[in-house]
Amino acid sequence: STVYLNGDYMSAEHAKISPMDRGFLFGDGIYEVIPAYNGKMLGFAAHIERMNNGLNEIEIKLDYSTDTWREICQQLCEKNHGDNLGIYLHVSRGADNKRAHAYPNDITPTVFAYAFEIPPQPVSDIDNAKTYTVSVEQDKRWQRCHIKSTALLGNVIHYQHGAAAGNNETILYNRLDELTEASSSNVFIVKDGIISTPPLDNQILPGITRWLIINILNSHSDFKVQERIISKQELFAADEVWITSATKEVGPVVKLDGQLVADGKPGQIWQQVQSLFTKHKFDY
Ligand code: PMP
Repeated sequence: STVYLNGDYMSAEHAKISPMDRGFLFGDGIYEVIPAYNGKMLGFAAHIERMNNGLNEIEIKLDYSTDTWREICQQLCEKNHGDNLGIYLHVSRGADNKRAHAYPNDITPTVFAYAFEIPPQPVSDIDNAKTYTVSVEQDKRWQRCHIKSTALLGNVIHYQHGAAAGNNETILYNRLDELTEASSSNVFIVKDGIISTPPLDNQILPGITRWLIINILNSHSDFKVQERIISKQELFAADEVWITSATKEVGPVVKLDGQLVADGKPGQIWQQVQSLFTKHKFDY
């Protein structure tokens, strides 16, 4: 495959970075994943804005304009054939000759990007949807989860616990037994027709899919959406549970820690929302 590294396109095996790169040594970097279907990117501007927010927050100075990023993403789509691609963008603080915690003053960020195949666009069909069974456990990551840091070990360990139990995601709650998010997704619940999701704060990533879903639902008067604190008890008592991310879109959860969600099938509201998402996702 063809990748991008610091201004050049090259085959993946020719892309080399220093072992002194702080991305490697400290996980000192920010990343993004943007879905592209037939070369058409979903939520591009919002993804770039989130990345810039992350870079600003950790004081990595990079002078790439949105147009530069667009060009890189488009080139990667063209050079790597595939109808369904995820474009991975990664900016680390860069390489420094000493492994010191303090941010070095004169350091050039390392910019890496590549495209990988993702599954076809999810369908809104109750009998053919990809479903999720999840583990549920206490969130033991850090208190800056709004930053899309490349230091993902906390998320990786949570996902692995789910995988070891035969599940394909892990939903997390904080020390107050409040729902946060999942190891690589945001979470929505439905109870008595009301759709709820935890509010944005330092405990969750501001998911672009979450944002798209809220926008789409708010533009349709038949839905009621709330951003509010949700307890772990409410999660287990929900009529529907969804996990959302760029590649999953609206993913129906059918089992929580082995317990069926309602009748164990994707719900009616999920079906309506995934179908609206399919229809409107490129409008934003
Ligand atoms: N939370 C976490 C921890 C994630 O890793 C992701 C996926 N990047 C999300 C939420 C969903 O974000 P998005 O909808 O932007 O993919």
